[in-house]
Amino acid sequence: MTHDQNAVEFDVVVIGGGPAGATAAWDLARAGRSVLLLDRAGRTKPCGGAVPPRLLEEFEVPQSLLVARARSARMVAPSNRAVDMPVGEIGYVGMVDRDVFDEWLRARAETAGAQRRIGTYDHIERDSAEGAVVCYSTARGGEMHKVRTRLVIGADGARSGVARESIPGAERNKCVFAYHEIVKSPATTPEGFDGTRCDVLYQGKLSPDFYAWIFPHGETASIGVGSANKGFSLRGAVKQLRDEMGLEGCETLRREGAPIPLKPLKRWDNGRDVLVTGDAAGVVAPASGEGIYYAMVCGRIAAQTAQAFIATGNPTLLKRARRSFLREHGRVFWILGIMQYFWYSSDKRRERFVDMCADRDVQVLTWQAYMNKKLVRANPMAHVRIFIKDCAHLLGLKPVAQ
Ligand SMILES: Cc1cc2nc3c(=O)[nH]c(=O)nc-3n(C[C@H](O)[C@H](O)[C@H](O)COP(=O)(O)OP(=O)(O)OC[C@H]3O[C@@H](n4cnc5c(N)ncnc54)[C@H](O)[C@@H]3O)c2cc1C
Repeated sequence: MTHDQNAVEFDVVVIGGGPAGATAAWDLARAGRSVLLLDRAGRTKPCGGAVPPRLLEEFEVPQSLLVARARSARMVAPSNRAVDMPVGEIGYVGMVDRDVFDEWLRARAETAGAQRRIGTYDHIERDSAEGAVVCYSTARGGEMHKVRTRLVIGADGARSGVARESIPGAERNKCVFAYHEIVKSPATTPEGFDGTRCDVLYQGKLSPDFYAWIFPHGETASIGVGSANKGFSLRGAVKQLRDEMGLEGCETLRREGAPIPLKPLKRWDNGRDVLVTGDAAGVVAPASGEGIYYAMVCGRIAAQTAQAFIATGNPTLLKRARRSFLREHGRVFWILGIMQYFWYSSDKRRERFVDMCADRDVQVLTWQAYMNKKLVRANPMAHVRIFIKDCAHLLGLKPVAQ
């Protein structure tokens, strides 16, 4: 049988098998679409791996993929003042190891009917026949393979090659660079490491514009920092954090880093046959850097949008993806953006921010927002109280506790 090079082979080719791409491929395959999931493989995504329980429920991910559950967060101010924020009865912060988690998501998409290939996306070609031709290689410098599809979903992460090629302005999207070291977990240290708690450090010396963290992963722990400041030594900051937390002697298993996008792109599609999603679309929550849950939400929206596009052939429908994500999460992203801009800009403000975290109303609302992924309106008086306290902090009327 001869292969017709002009025939469309797949409804959708998804490039990138992280949480966004694997979710899009899973949903499309379950809906009966022919879908190819292309991933370059061979590298574990550098990531703190913190996920909300809602992710497990919404995306039918088994609890067995969690390697730890944190029951509280410790916020540490520049003065070293530490404020514990217990989650309480409403949940926990789950921890996943990305090598196992991502592979499980890709395998699930394959079981649902997606075809999987290992290869590195290179570029898209177009000719007079229907569809876009995705060109990829399976070995460095090796021959180019080609596959024709109705729609390309670019889920190839921050600094996405698909976005840079197809979405004007994507190459200018700003990022925080995050770096972490994975160490063998110690027993609890006198300095305060605790395998059931996330430590979040708001200290200019550890990060001038973001934060530093220690996340427990059962047998291992992720110790990391982020900053958009190019001259700042992320490695030096992690070393300092490890020294201060009594973690300098723990065996280091991996050292790695990657960019985290700061803002959703203004366009997610090329008006023709390409849609980007997840980190490739710039979608990570400001202030927290949370991206796994939002990547999966984006992947699902990309799959729904792809379905509408394939059913009608109408490329203007591709715009729906961005609109529908921002309708649901735009407000939270906006508020988190302002928070990051304001509270992470000086040690004085970080001190006040951690001080605010000691407030029980703030704690309850923070955890509710994290668990539910929306601003909860259940207790309007709590919002009023927080608003008044917030104003007092902003105006410097409330003394910072030492
Ligand atoms: C250090 C660090 C810590 C973080 N901690 C957290 C955290 O604790 N919690 C949280 O929610 N988020 C965290 N994030 C953010 C989170 O990791 C991302 O937002 C999330 O992984 C985005 O998912 P994605 O599927 O869009 O992209 P990715 O997970 O980046 O997946 C992209 C996929 O595309 C593939 N790919 C890339 N280029 C090509 C190519 N040319 N051809 C073929 N395949 C390709 C890659 O192999 C990869 O599988 C962290 C990020 C960093 C850098």
